[in-house]
Amino acid sequence: MLRILLRIAAPRHRAFVPPMNKSVVTPFRQHDHDHDHCVDEALAQAEANCLRKGVRLTKIRRRVLELIWRRHEPVKAYDLLDRLKTEHRSAAPPTVYRALDFLLAEGLIHRIESLNAYVGCGDPSHPHLGQFLICQHCNAVAELNDPDISALLRRKSEQLGFQVNWQTIEINGVCPDCRSRQQGEQDRGLS
Ligand SMILES: [Zn+2]
Ligand SMILES: [Zn+2]
Ligand SMILES: [Zn+2]
Repeated sequence: MLRILLRIAAPRHRAFVPPMNKSVVTPFRQHDHDHDHCVDEALAQAEANCLRKGVRLTKIRRRVLELIWRRHEPVKAYDLLDRLKTEHRSAAPPTVYRALDFLLAEGLIHRIESLNAYVGCGDPSHPHLGQFLICQHCNAVAELNDPDISALLRRKSEQLGFQVNWQTIEINGVCPDCRSRQQGEQDRGLS
């Protein structure tokens, strides 16, 4: 408990949010960064959020969140289950799905529909509708939360008499890593 309170009192800086662009919730993974710090930060934020809202981040919910944050890419439910089974022989699909439902409801993770997989959210303290950039080569995901985009879509939908209840935008493309790899291959081909 003491550890949680100390973390709230002295939040560390957010390693992966470029300061100049507030609409970036989670950028693409960066090389040479301290990923343990990302995971610690995500877990500390989750603990603080749950404490504030009076909901319980049980051991299993925390562990599932930790596994989702293990890498900066979406994780499928059955991969989580496989991993949990090595730790708890009694782990079954409902164990994982109940934990995922909780984490989704608390905004600690997002579901990437097109991949049927889950990613951690870099800003769970501000509920939002995400816009996701998904690399079609390596599945890396970055998350944006630009209220202008949401508002524009809502306005355009209303012009058609359509009421928007929920919007998550998934955009497919090529991430910076894969682009530079492609560029390198192209350059080598030309030389
Ligand atoms: Zn990281
Ligand atoms: Zn988010
Ligand atoms: Zn990629």
